[in-house]
Amino acid sequence: MNTRPNDILICGGGTAGWMAANLFMHNWPDASVTLIESDNIGIIGVGEGSTPSLKQFFKTLGVSDQEWMPQCNATYKVGIRFPNWSDKQGYESYFHPFFSELDIKPGEPFFHNSKLQRKGVQANAHPDHYFVTAQMARQKTSPISNKYPNLDIDYGYHFDSGLLGEFLKNRAIKNGLNHIIDDISHVEVDQQGLDAFIKYVEANNSGKHKADLFVDCTGFKSLLMQNALKVEFKHYKENLFNDSAVAIATDIDLSEGITPETRSTALKYGWAWQIPLANRYGNGYVYSSDYVSSEEAEKELKEHLGITDDNVKVRHLKMKVGRLQQHSVSNCLAVGLSQGFIEPLEATALMLVQYTIEQYISTVDQPNENDKYTVFNNKVNNMMEGIRDYIVAHYVLNSRNDTDYWRDCRNAKKSETLTELLAAWNGDGNFEDMLNRLDNYLVYLRPSWYVILMGMGHFPTPNIIQPTELNKVFDYTKSRNYCGQLVDDVFPDHVSTLKGMYKDKWPS
Ligand SMILES: Cc1cc2nc3c(=O)[nH]c(=O)nc-3n(C[C@H](O)[C@H](O)[C@H](O)COP(=O)(O)OP(=O)(O)OC[C@H]3O[C@@H](n4cnc5c(N)ncnc54)[C@H](O)[C@@H]3O)c2cc1C
Repeated sequence: MNTRPNDILICGGGTAGWMAANLFMHNWPDASVTLIESDNIGIIGVGEGSTPSLKQFFKTLGVSDQEWMPQCNATYKVGIRFPNWSDKQGYESYFHPFFSELDIKPGEPFFHNSKLQRKGVQANAHPDHYFVTAQMARQKTSPISNKYPNLDIDYGYHFDSGLLGEFLKNRAIKNGLNHIIDDISHVEVDQQGLDAFIKYVEANNSGKHKADLFVDCTGFKSLLMQNALKVEFKHYKENLFNDSAVAIATDIDLSEGITPETRSTALKYGWAWQIPLANRYGNGYVYSSDYVSSEEAEKELKEHLGITDDNVKVRHLKMKVGRLQQHSVSNCLAVGLSQGFIEPLEATALMLVQYTIEQYISTVDQPNENDKYTVFNNKVNNMMEGIRDYIVAHYVLNSRNDTDYWRDCRNAKKSETLTELLAAWNGDGNFEDMLNRLDNYLVYLRPSWYVILMGMGHFPTPNIIQPTELNKVFDYTKSRNYCGQLVDDVFPDHVSTLKGMYKDKWPS
């Protein structure tokens, strides 16, 4: 594809399809965009947490929080808490914050103490003490300051994914999208092989659909890219063992406030998410079916949530973890679960959807040189590999001993990048130099690596080296007090902020 397409056919109306529709219509206003989705095949409907990139998505579209959040029972998110990933005393839980400029000042002593503790000095570098967002989560505040309205920090969201799809669908239709509800029955490909391209997509009632660009948003089915164009799928099974999930919604008691964090609690054979929305909690257990049956996983999740009611609605899901070798092939682009999936431990899937579409748009708009689609495919693959490495780090660094699952996870296959990075941390090498050297391959940046390593207590037993004038330890209570005072001064209660925004839509 060397020029902007005139006709775009998006196949699939999950969150990926509707995000794609809105971004294409925004960036290429002259294109005619059609979306075809099935009434019979549902959406996956469980992606309820985001990274801060979703804030950028809505900013690009010119949609304010006030406009979309009340329609989607959305709340704010400033990071993720990880309880029970480590057995090490004092490191049973840690918070992975979304960093913002406010964290620069209290963050510096964290890096300083982390470096000392890594060398064996007792320096208390547990990340929970050093970041403003960790304090915001403890105090259940919103990231929106009434007192300083121009303060614009990074934050993400929790939301009902079905309602987010509805919001984006209505917006796209209002802006002129052609919406077809029908089942795709056939994808016609011309010239199987290297130069294969899609001729048309055929649906039961509406017939053949031709387009300049076909966007595969058909979820794990990957009807166009994998089924029709036979693009190879690279499994991450050796790196990440989890392939299943079970989801259950529970009530939320708003009188207790809303913590602006996802909780990702390690259980016996995986981990359980808890996501606070305005009207309920979204919960689920991501596990490996090689180690536990779906019945046992459901039982363990119910016990974890304190559910005794046998009639509660339960959804079991299978996950295909890995990625396509190419995300763009001739006149087809794969977006969302159809292009691959990494388990949702850091809630990165929609970030990848957005990244893929935005990179694709800028690739098409570039001059046609230097094999620009190879560059595009490599970029998306690097993004997926970089996310995977950070997720794998959670497993290989775990120190649980209660099941074979966790013991085996410590030996999960690591990429060369992750191997080098952890070797630099564990050995005498210069970790900062290694972070710089691997910069092109890492999606997660320096703060996230320090947070996971220190948060899981992954450092030598302290007191090997005594603190000296040169190795002076920073008093962590100063950072904690600084963050506490700042949050008291700047950020209001989360529920109050949401109530003000939702007005009569607030669940009573
Ligand atoms: C357990 C779990 C937890 C997750 N948590 C998160 C999270 O916290 N954060 C996050 O960002 N992501 C998360 N995700 C991922 C997220 O749910 C998806 O990335 C997101 O919902 C996009 O899905 P999709 O649109 O690609 O696919 P789907 O939602 O599966 O949509 C597929 C669409 O294709 C259509 N379709 C399929 N076949 C046909 C056909 N023959 N004819 C016509 N239409 C067809 C369907 O009707 C549907 O509209 C999670 C995923 C799982 C499995």
